[in-house]
Amino acid sequence: MNPPSDPRPEVAPADEAVPSVAPRTLLALAPDELARVFVELGAKPFHARIARENVLAKGLLEYAAMTSLPASLRADLERELPIFAGREIGCSSAPDRTTKLLIEFPRANAREVSVEVVHMPSLALAAEDDETERNGATLCVSTQAGCPIGCPFCASGQLGLARNLAAHEILEQYVRGQSLGRLARSVVMGMGEPLLNFANLSAALDAVHDEMGLGSRRVTVSTVGFPERLRKIAPSRPRFQLAISLHTPDQEQRDELVPAMRGTPIDEVLAAGDDWFEKTGREVTYEYVLLAGTNDTQGHARRVSARLRGRRCTVNLIPYNPVEESPYRRPEGQAVEGFRRVLLEERVVATVRWSRGVDSDAACGQLRLRRERSR
Ligand code: SAH
Repeated sequence: MNPPSDPRPEVAPADEAVPSVAPRTLLALAPDELARVFVELGAKPFHARIARENVLAKGLLEYAAMTSLPASLRADLERELPIFAGREIGCSSAPDRTTKLLIEFPRANAREVSVEVVHMPSLALAAEDDETERNGATLCVSTQAGCPIGCPFCASGQLGLARNLAAHEILEQYVRGQSLGRLARSVVMGMGEPLLNFANLSAALDAVHDEMGLGSRRVTVSTVGFPERLRKIAPSRPRFQLAISLHTPDQEQRDELVPAMRGTPIDEVLAAGDDWFEKTGREVTYEYVLLAGTNDTQGHARRVSARLRGRRCTVNLIPYNPVEESPYRRPEGQAVEGFRRVLLEERVVATVRWSRGVDSDAACGQLRLRRERSR
């Protein structure tokens, strides 16, 4: 039997793809092109390397602060070579110090292209025993503007996909995020489906790993779990931990909750997760967004357990973070704990992730959705 094919094309259609001409910015230019621009400005090629290092490793976002470069060059760079392609167009902070940045990138097909970056400083109590963790933040980044998956409970896909983000646009989110406070971790759990823009994500994560120094165990990529794509990328020295959005043990319900996966049996997704563990030695996390009255019953908990028991994995329960105009609701704390208890009784490791920054503007992607709807 042929394995079922993944329902989405490897490369986004031309109108969804990344702009084909890289902008002339410090983050977007390849090393040799960057060196050439520096030479044009009368500097040495190694100055290009120093400038990039200043941005990525040292977190300097102003040429004026790069005192290891000649003063005249700094002034030229200020005029000639923007660091970023994007522009910060919004920023909001919650009482728990979670900060959301809204960044605008060049448009696609007259559609606005903006993404949210969320910076969450660690809560001291939660991370007492790990120094990096205690003093660092978790950054949530996006891989696409909009999303083609169409999960009915999620804000990101409600306007469809505008376009893939370029590698430098993904990297820009890390650099801007880092400027809000040192990063201990990052989750690729913002807008978009990472496996549908994997080449760009992978290039960005190489820079995050090699030049920003964020270890591969400190980066988590969340996907709906296209089996063939997972098998293809597993051998390529993973720069991250894998999380797969499962959301339900029942096929019919998954077809509804994760529409782009219609036609891909849950068994296939779990088998790809097993292969991932075998090839990489890294355990998979299964994410399960808890929607009151929809997928949070004790029966669901027992059926998830039956599917996952005996597998080396963790289930991460995410109580729903309500989205405007969504019919879904967040379950009560008791229901969440009850669900988790069933999993633990069935010997399935389960954790709960309560969303942060809820007070400022609710769920991920909402800041953007509200802005675009209002236009
Ligand atoms: N396309 C990827 C990344 C999505 S965001 C994926 O599906 O995994 C990361 C996780 O947040 C996913 O599990 C997604 O289903 C979940 N999510 C989306 N909207 C949410 C909301 N309003 N409340 C809680 N979790 C949500």
